[in-house]
Amino acid sequence: MNDLRELYQEVIFDHYRRPRNHGALSGANRKAEGYNPLCGDKVTLYLRIEDGIVREVSFEGSGCAIAIASASLMTEALKGKTEAEVQTLFGRFHEMVTASGPVSVLAPDLGKLAALGGVREFPVRVKCATLAWHTLRAALQGENSTVSTE
Ligand code: ZN
Repeated sequence: MNDLRELYQEVIFDHYRRPRNHGALSGANRKAEGYNPLCGDKVTLYLRIEDGIVREVSFEGSGCAIAIASASLMTEALKGKTEAEVQTLFGRFHEMVTASGPVSVLAPDLGKLAALGGVREFPVRVKCATLAWHTLRAALQGENSTVSTE
């Protein structure tokens, strides 16, 4: 279990140091901003959705390692997914970081996103991990406002 934990930490720090899909997206047709006042994390999410499928996604942000890594991992997981699949993934991810029980049981098909499963032992960190996802939901709903975790 310790090996797994170390692997997960490695994934998080790798995505924090070298965030994937980082920067503004030209040609984006959805955009939303998210803010977690508890920690000071900020995320701006850009999406290009065509025919109900996420073609491109990127983010800009500042904040703690968990918030940035979560946004980076999320953008990797979204490409090519339908909006319905994205909603399902949102539900699974949210369950993983808030429910109790082994992560491997709750998140069999979450791939690298499972690296963030450990945050539920730290309730304050759950908001860092879910910030990008709440911002995603706002972007999909077309709300052009800033979402806050509070
Ligand atoms: Zn944070």
